[in-house]
Amino acid sequence: MKNKLSLAQGRGYLAIPGPSVMPEAVLQAMHRAAPNIYAGELVDMMPALTQDLRRVARTSHDVAIYIANGHGAWEAALSNVIAPGESVLAPASGRFTHGWAEMARGIGAEAEVIDFGKSSPWDMDRIAEALRADTARRIKAVLAVHVDTSSSIRNDIPALRALLDELDHPALLMADCIASLGCDRFEMDTWGVDVTVTASQKGLMVPPGMGFVFFNDRAQAKRAAMPRVSKYWDWAPRANPEFFYEYFGGTAPTHHLFGLRTALGMIHEEGIENVWARHERLAQAIWTACEIWSRGGALQLNVADRVCRSHAVTALRLPEGKATALRTWTEANLGLTLGIGLGMAAPDGTGRDDYFRLGHMGHLNGHMVMGVLGGIDAGLRALNVPRGEGALEAAAAVISGQA
Ligand SMILES: *Cc1c(COP(=O)(O)O)cnc(C)c1O
Repeated sequence: MKNKLSLAQGRGYLAIPGPSVMPEAVLQAMHRAAPNIYAGELVDMMPALTQDLRRVARTSHDVAIYIANGHGAWEAALSNVIAPGESVLAPASGRFTHGWAEMARGIGAEAEVIDFGKSSPWDMDRIAEALRADTARRIKAVLAVHVDTSSSIRNDIPALRALLDELDHPALLMADCIASLGCDRFEMDTWGVDVTVTASQKGLMVPPGMGFVFFNDRAQAKRAAMPRVSKYWDWAPRANPEFFYEYFGGTAPTHHLFGLRTALGMIHEEGIENVWARHERLAQAIWTACEIWSRGGALQLNVADRVCRSHAVTALRLPEGKATALRTWTEANLGLTLGIGLGMAAPDGTGRDDYFRLGHMGHLNGHMVMGVLGGIDAGLRALNVPRGEGALEAAAAVISGQA
């Protein structure tokens, strides 16, 4: 039997919005024997590691590390500042905000969700309305997802801070930067964010398994006034440990820490401003290609306005089941794995094969983006999807800096 020709051999490329591509140096840093957790390199490297983490989040405040994914970090953050019966406000531009609100309900809080749908950023007027209506000041925190990874909307956190200040509302501003940290500009202290939640496996380029919660003095004051905080989630000993094990509430995530040490070194060697600029340019190349393909009438970008688009993930629609067909084709034929759509189909499942996402976060360069775009172009051809011409040339112009 003659084998069918496949172009999928060679290094595969996982272009999904997390876990992201890990640098070889990060993988190599993790490939080692178990270290001593009582003395030596691992213990000694912690102060500089937390300092370098703070530099990525642009904060001089505290950070607590959890052996958890993003969901764990969500719960950790809430557990320190929200008591049962208290309220949170969650302006939602996609699936992930609903998830965080559910987490808040799970610890006994009341969560008021303002749903802006799947393709729109926050409407500050509606958020203002909800905050003004809260004359009793029952809302203790606003759960702000910076980049909602399902819709690829990027929301305006400084505008939300300005609104809270203008209304003199004391609610904590809690930001989920899981998809955006190390990709989109984020300035915790300058933007007046009280609590920042993130995780290891997206812009930080480390495997899933570490969650981070940064918190300032306002958040710490709320923590101090809590009737109780679950012992394991308590951020106080983790942020200011007397003994090494207190950083992690038990055994350290040893190998993740070596990986993170290397990843943070790479980020700061490049310079965080350069990391943001790189993601911006690469995102612009992706948008340019998608906008041109979309002239054919099939492909659609979920977010119309470039200003509201994430630099880390792009959500797309390709109707009549072609999104799943495209993902299947590029994976089988090219070794290129595109992201599934998330939370975009109708509740009854209609359209579930019509959405996909491109992850472009973390360890990503120009040739990788041109490879993804070339792979999609080949897939659209193979599937006979009508598309505008010249997408790849236009993307190359953006990459080259000449667009
Ligand atoms: C990935 C992600 C999460 C969830 O993180 P997990 O590690 O999957 O628990 C939450 N919020 C945002 C914005 C994300 O991108």
